[in-house]
Amino acid sequence: MFSLAGKSVLVTGGSKGIGRGIASVFAAAGANVAIAARSRADLDSAVAALDGLGAGKVVGVTVDVSDPDSCTAMAAEVVEAFGGLDVLCANAGIFPDAPLQTMTPAQLAEVLDVNVKGTVYSVQACLDALTASGRGRVVLTSSITGPITGFPGWSHYGASKAAQLGFMRTAAIELAPHKITVNAVLPGNILTEGLADLGDDYLAGMARAIPAGALGTPEDIGYAAAFLASDEAGYITGQAIAVDGGQVLPESPDAVSP
Ligand code: NAP
Repeated sequence: MFSLAGKSVLVTGGSKGIGRGIASVFAAAGANVAIAARSRADLDSAVAALDGLGAGKVVGVTVDVSDPDSCTAMAAEVVEAFGGLDVLCANAGIFPDAPLQTMTPAQLAEVLDVNVKGTVYSVQACLDALTASGRGRVVLTSSITGPITGFPGWSHYGASKAAQLGFMRTAAIELAPHKITVNAVLPGNILTEGLADLGDDYLAGMARAIPAGALGTPEDIGYAAAFLASDEAGYITGQAIAVDGGQVLPESPDAVSP
């Protein structure tokens, strides 16, 4: 069960953080993995780290997901490298903070361009290849922030992450006849390089608010994505799975055991 060996997988935002964790899970499971992001230098160092985790190939592709032509070129490069594409993990995203009272149109546009339009453009660009696969899978990286929770400074980000789920539900219906499933993973607080920079006190405070008692790892998100990408998950579509150690569950801080 759950063999991903030989599948061709594209992870946008795969050079860092959660995307790199997703890529490492697929690579270790024997898939051919393409990671895509803007920085060539970050892609090269991630490819070097991922190469050899499994029997598949690992390649790095430059893309700006907010540009539809760039997404089209990305999909073509992956199909050229692997001969096809079975799984798209549309993970690239940004989360600059901007309080509502001072948020500029440019700040709002940037977050929506990358997180919402970038998701749609990435999926559109991969549709022909995913259809040709006959068992195509799309796994979106959304967030608990927006679909379930809120956080000051992130109203635009929360809107973008909720928008991904609205997109997912109709895309799942439209793509079902093509045997493509579309699902989403909603990470809670995941220990990425960016979060680690916030310091031990901050991280310890966050961990206390999570029933599981710890932040998640990028690989935790990868395992959920790998399940949704498996042949065995072929009857699951249009669903959102929170991977958050129970973070959204407590009614108040007192509900989390000391
Ligand atoms: P990260 O460490 O900052 O990595 C973001 C990745 O996306 C990088 O590879 C980055 O590479 C790429 N990227 C950014 N803008 C891009 C663009 N316009 N085109 C192509 N690639 C782009 O972020 P992360 O924390 O792993 O977050 C990844 C996803 O998880 C996001 O969708 C985020 O909303 C979601 N998420 C994260 C957390 C968390 O706790 N970290 C929680 C919930 C949800 P370049 O900069 O080189 O392009």
